[in-house]
Amino acid sequence: MNLRYLLQSIAQLLFPPSCPICGKSLLEIDSFVCLKCSTTIPFTHLWRVEDNVMKEKFCGLVPIERAAALFWFSSGSGWRDIIHDFKYNNHWYYAENIGRLLAKEFAESNFFDGIDLIIPVPLHWSRRLSRGYNQSEHLAAGISHVTGIPCNFRAISRNRNNPPQARRKFYQRWENISTLFTITHPEKLVGRHIVLIDDVFTSGATLISLAHTIHTACNGNVKISVATLAASRHMIDG
Ligand SMILES: [Zn+2]
Repeated sequence: MNLRYLLQSIAQLLFPPSCPICGKSLLEIDSFVCLKCSTTIPFTHLWRVEDNVMKEKFCGLVPIERAAALFWFSSGSGWRDIIHDFKYNNHWYYAENIGRLLAKEFAESNFFDGIDLIIPVPLHWSRRLSRGYNQSEHLAAGISHVTGIPCNFRAISRNRNNPPQARRKFYQRWENISTLFTITHPEKLVGRHIVLIDDVFTSGATLISLAHTIHTACNGNVKISVATLAASRHMIDG
């Protein structure tokens, strides 16, 4: 645990919590957001649809069991700002709360049934060091708390920070993303049903790359699902 992380934890204990969306002090009946803001979440409801637009992004590239995002990543939404806050403004503790919310909502479609391992998308060590945490690990911890499914944070490592560039030609992009991750402990993944956790689904390139690398390392003897906090409606439509 680094110093910044520790100070944040102490500050959370000393100062009364407020709603991260509207800023009002939270009452006892509120969750991590106030009751009013909790009604404004732009749910995708993709977890209710088996063959949805998000799952289609993996089609022909890597087999996927299920894929869903909790809410749409839409501009002007306080829910979009929450992601920015826990990713860049040190508010990592929001992520675990939203992970719990995701798990409770997805439970209505038995999304997590049969899944036996939760793996957050790893950050490159240099980014993790500068940020002090990996927000997807906190999301995963929240999901694990509700579902009881264990997390694994060490089976996979990330080789680079940079995502593939949209302007590159397809084969250059694929070459770039196909070496983005290394499976350091494939024996922990073989024969399992894994759910990969990430914060935002845009083009899907990072998750497609990770799923493909896992599938190859396990010689196809693995089931993979994908759950993200948010999805860009524009990228999914496009
Ligand atoms: Zn509020």
